Parts: sequence; structure tokens; C-alpha cells
Amino acid sequence: MKALVKAYARPGLWLQDVPVPEVGRNEVLVRVLKTSICGTDVHIWNWDEWAQKTIPVPMTVGHEFVGVVEGTGDNVHDYHKGDLVSGEGHVVCGRCRNCMAGRRHLCPNTSGVGVNRPGAFAEFLSLPVTNVWPCDPKIPLDVLSCFDPLGNAAHTALSFPVLGEDVLITGAGPIGVMAVAICRHAAARHVVVTDVNPYRLELARKMGATLAVDVRSESLKAVQKQLGMKEGFDVGLEMSGNPAAFRDLLAHMCHGGKIAMLGILRQVEIDWDLVVFNGLTIKGIYGREMYETWYKMTMMLRNGLDIAPAITHRFPVEDFEKGFDVMKTGQSGKVVLTWADA
Ligand code: NAD
Ligand code: ZN
Repeated sequence: MKALVKAYARPGLWLQDVPVPEVGRNEVLVRVLKTSICGTDVHIWNWDEWAQKTIPVPMTVGHEFVGVVEGTGDNVHDYHKGDLVSGEGHVVCGRCRNCMAGRRHLCPNTSGVGVNRPGAFAEFLSLPVTNVWPCDPKIPLDVLSCFDPLGNAAHTALSFPVLGEDVLITGAGPIGVMAVAICRHAAARHVVVTDVNPYRLELARKMGATLAVDVRSESLKAVQKQLGMKEGFDVGLEMSGNPAAFRDLLAHMCHGGKIAMLGILRQVEIDWDLVVFNGLTIKGIYGREMYETWYKMTMMLRNGLDIAPAITHRFPVEDFEKGFDVMKTGQSGKVVLTWADA
């Protein structure tokens, strides 16, 4: 089969012929229809420090996908050839305290599809049945291929109640702009988004932001005044991975404000007085809740949530280099690659 492989320990990905994966007794073989490119895949392409210490070579990469069931292992009885499916890219142990308690997103023994085990950028993917999500065929395939990052956005945006609240989202990347639409859907009052990239700020506006703010030229203080806000933001969603953005967010929260952190900041110095004296709550977010987030995404999309404008580019897989190029320029939202017709 065709697959996008990290074939060599240097920048790039290579479209190669590799064997179709074996299907274990508890696994489902998926024929991949569409995939979308994640920032993680770009790190793997670039072969940065994180990728070098994490990714085995050679390995098929990718974890955002939609496809149809091609076959199943002996123990799998509830999926059948042709079923439309996506899947959770975090494979958990099922045995630790959190897994046993149904908090699988908090498993400390997670391995990642397309990170630690063969990925979805391929004609076929083999996945444990516990990671397969049955898709609603009324949802467009492009959107279904983005369920993994949409899940990051939903898990973060729904971490704290936003009904009637003023929400600040730092970072209008693909996940930040999807979070805008979710906060709108969940009836936030104002949804303010910051970035330093005009293309992405425009995307945030299309997705329903009250204001999309270029922090190079506008201050959040002025924005709050313009919106008639008397106190700070009630809910903050950190989705930039940028230290300056996080510090700015901390300084503009209301007392008792709630912050959900998706962006990966590593070691950053902050003014802890803002957290302690303002009584802030900070919650780290990893992945999606299995499978409450998946359920919520499906139901929101069936009831008016529209994330289609966040998908800005589509290519056949043969043109994968164009897809990665546009991701690297930052002049994109989600980029979808087509592997096969439905
Ligand atoms: P992205 O890198 O495409 O988007 C980040 C955005 O932040 C970019 O548009 C960038 O221009 C913007 N930005 C840079 N400096 C800024 C500043 N000073 N103020 C405001 N915005 C600024 O990333 P994405 O794919 O949308 O993901 C968002 C973040 O979430 C990334 O940090 C990513 O690594 C992280 N992530 C975490 C998880 C998790 O499970 N915790 C999962 C997926 C992604
Ligand atoms: Zn576990």
C-alpha cells in the first residue's frame, strides 16, 4: 500500500510502498479516505529536536483520519466492512487507575498513532477496536477527518462553562479558530482571539469571533474597553504555545477566572501573583476525553456547529508536499489530503 513514511532521519516525508498492516484479534483495519495534517506532522517533517527523540525511523506517520472498515480481528463483532469510522489517536493501557475509572484521557501509559506506532497517512490503518469511533455519515468527510484536532478544541473550550461568559483565546491556529466556533455554539458572550498572523485572524472572524486582535498593534486593555467589559475575561483558552501570549492572558483574566491550557509552553516564567491573588484556576488539557468529547463533537455538528471554514486547503495525497508547504507558511487553516474515494 501507499503510505507517507518518515523513512530517513532528516527533514521530509516520503510516499512509499509498505506492507498493509496486520490486524490483531482486537483490531479493526480501516481503509483511509481522508486525512488532515497536524502541527505534530510538521514537527516530524522538520525533524526537530522533539521528533528526533520521539519518532522511530522508518515509520508511517499521521493520526487525523476518516475511513471505512475493511476488515476486523476475531474478537471484533460490532464493526462491519464499509462502516464509516474515525479514531482516537491516543492508545491507552486500559489497566491503570484512570483507565479503570473511565478517565482514559488521563492514562499515563499512552502511545500515539503516527507518533509511537504506525500512523494513518496510508491506504490502510490498523487500530484497536477501543479506539474506533463510528462516524455519522451526515457529517462531511472533510470535517470528519478533523475530529482529532476538533476534539482538542472541544475538550479545551468545554472545560469550563462559557454560557454568557467573556472568553479570550490566545492563538488563532486551526485549533484556536475551531474553538471560536465552539464557544459561539455554547453561547459565550464575547469571544476575543489574539494572534500575530493576519490570515488566521481573518479566519477567526469567519468562525464567529467578536474581535480578532493582532497583538502587535492592539492591546487587550483597549479591546476590553471597546467591548465595555468591566472586569477581565471569565474564561481563557491558551492555544498559541507562545509564552508572551500566555502572560498577556494571565494579566487580563477576571478574579476567579478559569484557564484551559492546550498550547505547549514547556518552561515559562510567569507572574504567579496573578494566579494566586486573582484566584485563577489553570487546567492542563491533553488530547480528548474518550469518548465524551467525540460524542459532543458529533452532536454539536448535527445541531448547527459549522467548522467547514477552518478547512482551507485540499490536495490529493500525491501532492502532499504542497499541503505541508502551505501549513509551514502559516497561511492556512486545516489542510486535508484525499487518499481514496468513498
Ligand atoms: P498553531 O501553531 O498552528 O497555532 C498557534 C497560533 O498561535 C499561530 O497561528 C501563531 O501565529 C499564534 N501565535 C504566535 N504568537 C502569538 C502571540 N504572541 N499571541 C497570540 N498568538 C500567537 O497550532 P494549532 O495546531 O492550532 O495548536 C494550538 C496549540 O496547541 C499548539 O501549541 C499545539 O502544539 C498545541 N496542541 C496541544 C495538544 C494537546 O493535547 N495539549 C494537542 C494539539 C495541539
Ligand atoms: Zn491507562
